[in-house]
Formats: sequence, C-alpha cells, structure tokens
Amino acid sequence: MPGLVGADGVLQRAANLGWQDVPLAAELRPALRAAGDDLAELPVGADNEANLGGLAERWLGAGPEDFLYVSAEAGVGAAIVVGGRLLRGARGYAGEFGHVPVHPDGLRCACGARGCLEQYAGEAAVLRAARLTGARGDWVALLAERATAGDTAARMALAGAARALGIAAAGAVNLLDPAEVVLGGGYAELAPWLLPALRAELAARVTVRPWAEERLTVARLGRRGPLLGAAVGVVRAIVADPGPLAAPGPGEGWTGPG
Ligand SMILES: [Zn+2]
Repeated sequence: MPGLVGADGVLQRAANLGWQDVPLAAELRPALRAAGDDLAELPVGADNEANLGGLAERWLGAGPEDFLYVSAEAGVGAAIVVGGRLLRGARGYAGEFGHVPVHPDGLRCACGARGCLEQYAGEAAVLRAARLTGARGDWVALLAERATAGDTAARMALAGAARALGIAAAGAVNLLDPAEVVLGGGYAELAPWLLPALRAELAARVTVRPWAEERLTVARLGRRGPLLGAAVGVVRAIVADPGPLAAPGPGEGWTGPG
C-alpha cells in the first residue's frame, strides 16, 4: 500500500487514496476465502510498497547490507535497510520519505504539512510540471515516452523532481550513511532523466566527501520490486514457520517452494 501500514496490518492513512484506518488484512480475508477453501487459512498481511520494494532488492536483487531505497508510485516512499534488515521504527511507520520537507514554506501537502518532497517529486507534481495534469494511464510510461522524444517540459519536470529528491536523499545519507541510495518503483524507469540532477545534489550536500557516484544505483528489480517483495515475503514466512501448511508426509500437503 502507498501509505502508513502499522505492524498490525492496519492502514492508518494513505493520503493519496483518501483512505484512513482500513484493516486491510482483515478485509482481504473474505476474498481469500471466496477464492477457495484451501486458501482460507493462508496468512494475509499488508505492508507499505516501498518497504516491500526494499526487501525485494535485498532478498532477490543482491542489495547491500545498508541502503536507502526510494520509490514513487501513487506516493513517494522509502525503505531503510540497516544491517540487512528493514528499519520499521517503533510502530512500523518508518520511511515516510515523501513527507520530508524540501521547501519549508512550500506547497500544501495532502498530509497537512507544507513543502513535502511528494509535492515536488510525486506523480501529480511531476505530471503538473510536465503540463500533463489529468493524463490517464501509466504516468511513468507517459513521462518516459515524452522525455525520450525530447519534450522539454517533461525533461525539466523530471530534473526538478530529481533536485527535490536529491535534497531529501542527501539529508538521509548524512543521517544514515547507507552504502547505496537505490532508485526504485517508478523512479527506476525514469532514472535516465533523474540521475544527473540527483548526482549533483548529493555531491553538493553529502557531508562525507567525495560522494562516490556509484553509490547512487537503480533498483536491480526495476519497477516490479514491491510486488516481488510481497510475494517472496509470504513464501519466506511460510518456510520459516510452515505451521498447518507443513507437509504431513510424502506426497501429501504443501511441499514448499523448493
Ligand atoms: Zn506531506
């Protein structure tokens, strides 16, 4: 989910969707039951999409022990991986990168604050800057298509997003000293137009110098990361604790992913 998902699987808020206090895991249960009796008791969970993207990058993409994964889809988010593990914070809400302020007196954000990164590097902001407000369909594909064709407004919109992203990312790098900053989600596909301004901001703002350019990378799993993370997370949980799904004997029951 593009929002605040607590450790209890309840979506506290997804400002971009206008959703609040939705018990996602509990609401998905009837759908699972409807899909088949044998699925009814499978574990159901909910997590933030950037968290899942970061975990996938660690599990499947050979991500380093310490990295910051930043991504944009409906919102802008981040996964903070420290010592190979996701930093979730006290209640599960860590990584709200989209609401790091980049302009203290800037635009009003859906979260109620002003000047949040999302207002400069999120989907709606970039489409507006590219003069594509109201465009339908896949915003990332549309921007990539326009930028590839040399559309100046699209390219400037992406460079502007990258500057805001670089300001926020530099703050996170100074705070956390990650081995890499990984561009994931929609940003992975827009990387060719984001990287130059992002590199410049990081080089200018990261305190430990020189900022090595190769520490800014593009997600190895591209835009599929969050979905892969969701799928692999379930498989890993079952392998770690098969419970009632454990195979009772040869040829019976669920035998695992191998
Ligand atoms: Zn905000």
